[in-house]
Amino acid sequence: MNGNTAPPSIPFTDPIFDFCFHPTRHVVVSGLITGYIYCHQYGTEANTLLWSTQISKKSTRGVEFNQDGSLLMTISRDKSIQTLDVDTGRLLMKIPKAHKYPINKIHALDLNRIATGDDEGIIKLWDLRTPKMAQQYISHDDFIADMTFAEGKSTLLAAGGDGVLSIHDTRKLDKKVATCTLDDELLALTTIKDYDQVVAGSQSGALYYWQWNEWATIKDKWLGHPSSVDTLCKLDEDTLCTGGNDGLLRLVSVSPDYQFEGVLGDHGEDFPVERVRLSSQNGAGDAAALLGSCGHDMNLRFWDIGDLYDSDSDDDGDKDSQESGNNTNDKKRQHDITTATTGHTKRFDCSDVNLDGLLDKNHKWAKAVTESDPNYFKDMALGQTPKILWIGCSDSRVPANQVLQLGPGEVFVHRNIANVVTHTDMSCLSVLQYSIEVLKVEHVIVCGHYNCGGVAAAYSRKQVGLIDNWLRNIKDVYRLNASSVNKEEDEQQRMRRLVDYNAIHSAQNVCYSTIVQDAWKRGQKLTVHAWVHDIADGMARKLNFKASCASDMEFIYVSNNE
Ligand SMILES: [Zn+2]
Repeated sequence: MNGNTAPPSIPFTDPIFDFCFHPTRHVVVSGLITGYIYCHQYGTEANTLLWSTQISKKSTRGVEFNQDGSLLMTISRDKSIQTLDVDTGRLLMKIPKAHKYPINKIHALDLNRIATGDDEGIIKLWDLRTPKMAQQYISHDDFIADMTFAEGKSTLLAAGGDGVLSIHDTRKLDKKVATCTLDDELLALTTIKDYDQVVAGSQSGALYYWQWNEWATIKDKWLGHPSSVDTLCKLDEDTLCTGGNDGLLRLVSVSPDYQFEGVLGDHGEDFPVERVRLSSQNGAGDAAALLGSCGHDMNLRFWDIGDLYDSDSDDDGDKDSQESGNNTNDKKRQHDITTATTGHTKRFDCSDVNLDGLLDKNHKWAKAVTESDPNYFKDMALGQTPKILWIGCSDSRVPANQVLQLGPGEVFVHRNIANVVTHTDMSCLSVLQYSIEVLKVEHVIVCGHYNCGGVAAAYSRKQVGLIDNWLRNIKDVYRLNASSVNKEEDEQQRMRRLVDYNAIHSAQNVCYSTIVQDAWKRGQKLTVHAWVHDIADGMARKLNFKASCASDMEFIYVSNNE
């Protein structure tokens, strides 16, 4: 295996709708929501901007090179098709109102022909030499999400938001169009297994596939994909890369059965992947196998997938030998896929025993953040001014920043098993004192969560060990609220009530502390909240407790020595 030779990410300040690799040169073009087109030369060490131009005030929806890379073609929300000079970005040709509706997708068929599809489902074929529309297909009644062209069969296929797969023989312009309609939004499309099958990714996450020429019904569907399939590309005839709305790039093998092979890359949890494409130079000469992806994180990212193609024989990276079905290579590739990636939806690779992979990811992340905002970490190092203290459970499924959707520097955090607050816990009291008196947080949120193992253990009478002494606090909460908890119909509901009471109890203990009492006496602005988070739906909710001053508290706990 070679080292990682992927170029660094290209950060933008606006969302990228589409990008494309030049077929023979190390050049990548990105189309942005602002109507700008950027052309970069990419390299392992650095990327260089070659040119940029604004083709429209409206968003660029698609960019595509023709077959030999001599022309760059663009589509825009302004309904135009434009061709640009690859070396300079100069406008060569423009069809202003190419469609009646905004154009959503472009696909190059060969040297001179392209297909475009719009927001209302109309597909047009163009010959750029004339440049005139050669054919129009009306087979969809919602946006054209993706198209692919089976060159050897002269067949254009399109997938739409209306759930329709349409199949068009481009040689016989009057031939009746075959379609198949599904009850799902189709978003991405490709051929696989040497045109033997066609696969479409969908909003629901299902991958639907058809046997070639048997279009009336799907051959089958695969439901193993954990997020929507917003984009996909073929890595080889038996392997797909998908991009989902959870920001992950996943490997899926399709032979002999559909199977998830691991996570290949990550744009970040809240950043859906917009497009994934394979550099067509993969396997040619000494070029690294390079995958590109753009997502809502506004980064064009590159992924070195050379490991998936490498073999120990002399014909390293020789695509032809891969495609001719060399068995040894296939097995090696399969092995590399499974060992090079993390498996399932987990991002941590258990074979990374020295945690070098983790550090590597950390360094890449730090580098990418610095690229997009050179002062980010410098500013961060100047100090913190969080307004919120979070006291939560140590449970790995309840991370404060994600639940609150706040960034680094915004939440001060204390977590322990079952979010217990007691007056003898020096760690918790120190956090409370520092955050209130020094950082001057304005809110303390004590957040419990359902399915809490700590609360469940306390509720049971099983002995677990040392931790029983800690969980004893929760048994007290149960004893104090037993009549109310026991009113619930079943065990699960009773446990949920106990989680609620435990969070409220801890929030009360925060208020009873000398630290909070003193803060209120000083007139410091401080509110203590009790919340509960439901892991099953991701939602945090307010519980019936909130206090902003001593008079909110029970009399006995309020100190009165002025
Ligand atoms: Zn818990």
